[in-house]
Amino acid sequence: MSHADRILMGPGPGNPYPQVIKAFGRPVLGHLDPDFIALLDETNDRLREVFRTANPLTFPVSATGSAGMEATFVNVLGPGDTVVIGVNGVFGERMCDVASRCGATVVRVDAEWGQALDPQDLLDAHPDPKVIAVVHAETSTGVRNDIAPIGAGKGDALLLVDCVTSLGGIPLEIDAWGVDLAYSGTQKCLGVPPGLSPVTVSAAAIDRFVEKPQSWYLDLQMIARYVTSGGERAYHHTAPISMIYALHAGLGVVLEEGLENVQARHQACGDKLQAGLVDRGFELFAQEGHRLPELTSVLIPPGRLPEGLDEAGVRGRLLSEYGIEIGGGLGPVAGKVWRIGCMGHTARIRNVTLLLAALDEILG
Ligand SMILES: *Cc1c(COP(=O)(O)O)cnc(C)c1O
Repeated sequence: MSHADRILMGPGPGNPYPQVIKAFGRPVLGHLDPDFIALLDETNDRLREVFRTANPLTFPVSATGSAGMEATFVNVLGPGDTVVIGVNGVFGERMCDVASRCGATVVRVDAEWGQALDPQDLLDAHPDPKVIAVVHAETSTGVRNDIAPIGAGKGDALLLVDCVTSLGGIPLEIDAWGVDLAYSGTQKCLGVPPGLSPVTVSAAAIDRFVEKPQSWYLDLQMIARYVTSGGERAYHHTAPISMIYALHAGLGVVLEEGLENVQARHQACGDKLQAGLVDRGFELFAQEGHRLPELTSVLIPPGRLPEGLDEAGVRGRLLSEYGIEIGGGLGPVAGKVWRIGCMGHTARIRNVTLLLAALDEILG
């Protein structure tokens, strides 16, 4: 099956690819061209709509989701600052690495992989942290961590949230939940190719920016003079024009379908997939009540694998014979779970039906 077949599988509402491909074909304007600036402003408006925020500093960082993580951390954390970080998967671990490279003191709050973090544990971990950081949707385990209670109890701390796999996929309320800094990615539930990291920052966080962040490229005070509408636009770095066209188009598709409808589509697919797996005797890995619809983690039953085929072999057959890519486990659950992403334009019932039928054929 060709790449094109896979990407275009499942046309219908919520498939941004026709628009995204057209967007990549648009003439590349200069990064200070008034027409491009207007399109950037409109992209940032659309991001405010999907993030559910009024933050003026809302824009796509010019690199993937991990750069959004780094951009938010380096601007509020330096030597002498304390950050509480929730860790129940790969991306919480990555936050600890990034924060310690900023010179900050890291207070870890761990939960078992597959379990959700207890918001109260994060609030109790330190009497006066500058930042509390948590991953909303842990892509490595399929677990959703609750954000609203942390925002409600954060006191003077800034709340920093990884929304890479939640934006567009599940309800997310930056302003109503009291989130001060958040970053996302284009290639997860928004269904746009990888390359940008939408970021949003509250006025309270801007007030507490470190004076000189340890990254020149990701210094949000400098970038703000280019991305924030109102004042004179000042060159910082050349915006990746075509990627911003693509994100603008992809967000347009999301808003045209309606954010709530997009989330409902993700939920319906996750529900059908998880029920289908349970019907077939599989055990879901993520804690009940905290399961992400867009990322289903399931324990691999070794006794169910056909003669001569290991779990990677099953994934290989899904890809080569059915055009379906599912993920293997990461870290401590490598080889023990499958992670099935059903997000963005791939979140459609027919894909779930096909996957379940393909598993029936391969596993017998
Ligand atoms: C994918 C992902 C990231 C990293 O994004 P990249 O685009 O790969 O840099 C960060 N956090 C979470 C939760 C993710 O799923």
